[in-house]
Amino acid sequence: MARIVQKFGGTSVADIDRIKTVAQRVKKEVDAGNQVAVVLSAMAGVTNQLVTYAREVSSLHDAREFDAVVSTGEQVTAGLLALALQDKGVAARSWQGWQIPIRTDGAHGKARIMGIEIEELERRLALGEVPVVTGFQGLGPDNRITTLGRGGSDTSAVALAAALKADRCDIHTDVDGVYTTDPRIVAGARKLDKITYEEMLEMASAGAKVLQTRAVELAMKRGVRLQVLSSYGDGAGTLVVDEDEIVEKEMISGIAYDRDEAKITLVGVADRPGVAAGIFGPLAEAGINVDMIVQNVSADGKATDLTFTVAKGDLDRAVRVVEELRDALGYADLVYDPNVVKVAVIGVGMRSHAGVAQRMFQALAEKGINIQVISTSEIKVSVLIAEEYTELALRSLHAAYGFEDD
Ligand code: ADP
Ligand code: ASP
Ligand code: MG
Repeated sequence: MARIVQKFGGTSVADIDRIKTVAQRVKKEVDAGNQVAVVLSAMAGVTNQLVTYAREVSSLHDAREFDAVVSTGEQVTAGLLALALQDKGVAARSWQGWQIPIRTDGAHGKARIMGIEIEELERRLALGEVPVVTGFQGLGPDNRITTLGRGGSDTSAVALAAALKADRCDIHTDVDGVYTTDPRIVAGARKLDKITYEEMLEMASAGAKVLQTRAVELAMKRGVRLQVLSSYGDGAGTLVVDEDEIVEKEMISGIAYDRDEAKITLVGVADRPGVAAGIFGPLAEAGINVDMIVQNVSADGKATDLTFTVAKGDLDRAVRVVEELRDALGYADLVYDPNVVKVAVIGVGMRSHAGVAQRMFQALAEKGINIQVISTSEIKVSVLIAEEYTELALRSLHAAYGFEDD
């Protein structure tokens, strides 16, 4: 007997027929003698709709009420799946975050899970009941509902698997595993049998939304055996593993992209100590995360340009913050552009192969794509390019690293 946490994403529970199919999948594991806990997303599109409702009522919304609204989609699917399971003769009960409770910090909209009280779930699992848990939500310190950030049901599932010491955490989604790049954009993308936690973490943080970044982080930290597989077929998915479980290390294991970037350039910034701190301090205080940063030394020792990126949704606020600093910093001009995309190539093999970045630059150059910003880490090279070239860049890079023949 194994203990399994099964998570099903939005498209997998998008309508009643699919919820019945999910019930069948859960029943199969129960019939095989396993203890199963399920974590669900809202029906596809529902969370977006709820976000729109909240924004239409109030653009500068109260974060607590925003979470009260956007967390409701999961309540519907959890209740429906519990009903569908009962209908098939499987004992099941739905659980919202506050009922367990799944305790989080108070950062509404991007809360972190602090702990899960599992006693009652343990008791019911032992009796053969299937808990169907709402993903994406928890209970904050002031006893109000919090949400974990978009795609957060993955993190709910991993956190539950860690708390229940589950043997496996299966993330069921609308693709049958983790691919070399988004299979919806590059038709020739290849499914990976295995990927390391580290690579998956970089892929997720570089925009591959197949798993939420925090879910991978938590799985890595708590040693949760994580698998991504299709909600529909029975084939093997992708296993997220430790590096020593992968014998043949490819130079690159994946290419990710993130359209949620906007670029800001300060032209003619004084080249003196304290300028960067003077810019990024106020941005951090305003709760704005900065991703890529480039600055060169000035040729004349006087002034240089400074470029950085923020999430598209933070662009207006970031521009406002930097404009207010104009007198203090004395820069010449401020320009910004939301029409950019970050493309990243990722692989632990980079540590032992030279020329990874060069191959990327060459492939983009051959297509006439200009690179605006470059940043690197030990196992990742990222570039910022114009958004209109997203698909062309992904396809060319995919071919350049030998993932396909075209
Ligand atoms: P769910 O609702 O099941 O959580 P998501 O939409 O959040 O599903 O994530 C699955 C999607 O992630 C896929 O449909 C695919 O378009 C996208 N995706 C992006 N990069 C990758 C990748 N490298 N491998 C697989 N899927 C990817
Ligand atoms: N329903 C939430 C979202 O759309 C959480 C999730 O699907 O993981 O972001
Ligand atoms: Mg998701």
